[in-house]
Amino acid sequence: RYIGGKVKEKITEGNLQYHHHQHYSSIDPQLIPPLYPTNVEKIKIQTFSRIRLEHTIATHQWILKKSSSPICSCGQILTIKHILCNCLNFSLARSIAFKTINPLDFLKSASEQNINSIYYFITMTRLNI
Ligand SMILES: [Zn+2]
Repeated sequence: RYIGGKVKEKITEGNLQYHHHQHYSSIDPQLIPPLYPTNVEKIKIQTFSRIRLEHTIATHQWILKKSSSPICSCGQILTIKHILCNCLNFSLARSIAFKTINPLDFLKSASEQNINSIYYFITMTRLNI
């Protein structure tokens, strides 16, 4: 999914990583990094940002290692959408963190509540994000 297989990224002062990506542009066509609330812990914002950009260790390490696509513990291909929306292994965590709301809706704006919900879900999944 990456042109030439290269991952271009720059690390900002807050250690948030941005790069142009299909997943990102589908959520935010302007490609403008969102303004994050200043009262939220950095680790939560970093987790939210990585999920939002679909740039996580769990799902993208294989690109850096040039190995085959990552497979979830359930046997499906490991993607952010799979983790957030589909994986049966995380259905309990999903219902606790997101209730009946579509998990992808939490990525649409970087509100404190959305960041906390995403972070809460990820801590429950124990995934390396
Ligand atoms: Zn799964």
